[in-house]
Amino acid sequence: MDIDYLLTTSDPVAVQDLFDEAARLRDEVYGRRIFIRGLIEITNHCRNNCLYCGIRRDVKTQRYRLSKEQILDCCRTGHALGFRTFVLQGGEDAWFTDDVVCDIVSAIKGEFPDCAVTLSLGERGRESFTRLREAGADRYLLRHETADANHYAHLHPAEMSFEHRMQCLHDLRDLGFQVGAGFMVGSPGQTLETLKKDLDFIADFRPEMVGIGPFIPAAGTPFEKHPAGSVELTLRLLAIIRILHPHVLLPATTALGTLHPQGRERAINAGANVVMPNLSPQDTRALYSIYNNKLSTHSEAAETVADTRARLKAIGFDIPVDRGDFSKLKIEN
Ligand code: SAH
Repeated sequence: MDIDYLLTTSDPVAVQDLFDEAARLRDEVYGRRIFIRGLIEITNHCRNNCLYCGIRRDVKTQRYRLSKEQILDCCRTGHALGFRTFVLQGGEDAWFTDDVVCDIVSAIKGEFPDCAVTLSLGERGRESFTRLREAGADRYLLRHETADANHYAHLHPAEMSFEHRMQCLHDLRDLGFQVGAGFMVGSPGQTLETLKKDLDFIADFRPEMVGIGPFIPAAGTPFEKHPAGSVELTLRLLAIIRILHPHVLLPATTALGTLHPQGRERAINAGANVVMPNLSPQDTRALYSIYNNKLSTHSEAAETVADTRARLKAIGFDIPVDRGDFSKLKIEN
């Protein structure tokens, strides 16, 4: 695969062929089935100061955190709607100690033994990850953000390190989590060279999940005036990732849906196979403002799911009631 060419060509036929090949591989591994994950944004408190992020420490914004009971309520709503994976995401909030998170994870696994629990709570130590895994967490999403150390330093304050983020991904893998990596498309300082490093990293580490979406400026951050990333480039990258790693679980992210009304459908037609509707309580959704104008801030979970189902049906996909684990099926090429 000539990645340079595919990322830069203006030939629409070459791009369509790329999307078609990615969709064909996805169909071969997973069929015409799109997995849903219920996203629960548990806290917007964060000790970190990532330059791109709308809930970074220095942003003056109203902060919230959900209680265990509120989180369980979100899961109850989600379970009734057919979700079998819950993703607990948040800033790096010291209130969510290992004891607190383990208690929440055990409660979810106890009440919903047929469900997978995914955590996305940022960087923690190996001991901490060990405890979360023992409490029953199945998966962990921690985007690597960029596989280029200099670019990483451009996006993060000096107290954060590229090495530590990568170490976390390796620890998570060792401990038996299904691991999610990923990056933003069009983040400040990104180049064709850094993107190729991201693709090399994915082809080499082979994360079970890869989350990519366009960078979207967030108010009150150092990058608030920086233009948003390209939807077109994001779609090409999704397709390339599917081809490099056919079994990957690849979400059509909310950021894509935010920038383009058909963004998520287009992502699916370019090889994505996961969507993550928001199950967070309506009154806290707007506060989890990692970037501007985030999609479906105002609709009920049931409404969001019905809309997602209808949109996917229209392009020929079903949503199974299924955990949607990483498939180890062999495919013949
Ligand atoms: N604190 C957790 C979760 C972060 S939010 C962690 O560190 O993993 C999840 C993802 O949103 C981030 O990994 C980042 O890639 C993405 N994100 C943050 N700010 C963004 C922005 N302005 N535009 C698009 N995506 C953004």
